[in-house]
Amino acid sequence: MSDISLAFALGLSFTWTHRIILPNKLSIYYQLRQDVAMSVNAAIEVRGLSKKYGAKTAVDGIDLTVERGEIFALLGPNGAGKTTTVEILEGYRKASSGDVRVLGFDPATKGNAVQRWRNQIGIVLQSTSDAADLSVLETISHYANYYENPRDVEQVIDEVGLRGKVNAKARELSGGQRRRLDVALGIIGSPELLFLDEPTTGFDPEARRSFWELIRVLKAEGTTILLTTHYLDEAQALADRVGVINNGKILEIATPQTLGGRNHAPAKVTWLENGVTNQIHTQDPTAEVLKLSQRFNGQIPELEVLRPNLEEIYLKMIGEIR
Ligand code: ATP
Repeated sequence: MSDISLAFALGLSFTWTHRIILPNKLSIYYQLRQDVAMSVNAAIEVRGLSKKYGAKTAVDGIDLTVERGEIFALLGPNGAGKTTTVEILEGYRKASSGDVRVLGFDPATKGNAVQRWRNQIGIVLQSTSDAADLSVLETISHYANYYENPRDVEQVIDEVGLRGKVNAKARELSGGQRRRLDVALGIIGSPELLFLDEPTTGFDPEARRSFWELIRVLKAEGTTILLTTHYLDEAQALADRVGVINNGKILEIATPQTLGGRNHAPAKVTWLENGVTNQIHTQDPTAEVLKLSQRFNGQIPELEVLRPNLEEIYLKMIGEIR
């Protein structure tokens, strides 16, 4: 079996490198680069991605795979390189180096194929949409016309919670309502892959919860979602896996439950005794609670058992390298 058919049999794609040496001696040669072999099943595959803005390295050789149907949250402080990474994946920015595949397609490709690829992805950018003179209904209907297989416009209006503003002009919406319109425009095309860059900034708590429900519906329908957010509770509630990025480098990729060894972190047990709140940190909270229960003969006053949440783990990770 040749290298190439072996690669196909293994479900790998490969990179062609070709070079024209002389006009009359056309020499095209290829190289199967198993070191950057990419899974054809992944929705997003990134190897050694870097982006420089002049002397500033914003993204510094990152590797990342997002499986189809997965919700992946990219976390990191301001200026970490999240938006730059996402914009390269969306085809809005050119990488300085590295290999990128999004739904099997290199986003830097030019030509007609790009439009077909664009129809498969939905994007909610960090900045809000231009405030047009069109109403909410008109704006969403207008965007729906661009897609082969749009979601139902009325359903989307309900899903993003804009029913009460359906006839309001986009420029008359509040910041949070405008953000909901952005989300509506991101999902109207029934995307296979949805990019959400800080989607709930400006949402009130109730709107955020409704948005989380919408994201769960999209996931149940099979949509792959790449989310960037500064809300750690949002990542914990939604993400199958999170990647922490800082100074352009990925620090760790893990599930929200296991990031930074969270599942093995000591639990804090607190209780009230003689009017004083006591606390201990322990690897075995069940044993401590049993001991306390025997000491108190049953009820332990104001007992709490807490593991560090994602935010605490994240802040420790970011703090350690600063
Ligand atoms: P935030 O959470 O604030 O949105 P981010 O993680 O998305 O931050 P990026 O916007 O990707 O960060 O920026 C990464 C780095 O690249 C920052 O230091 C930023 O100043 C720099 N940068 C971003 N865009 C440009 C640009 N167009 N020209 C020069 N530098 C840029």
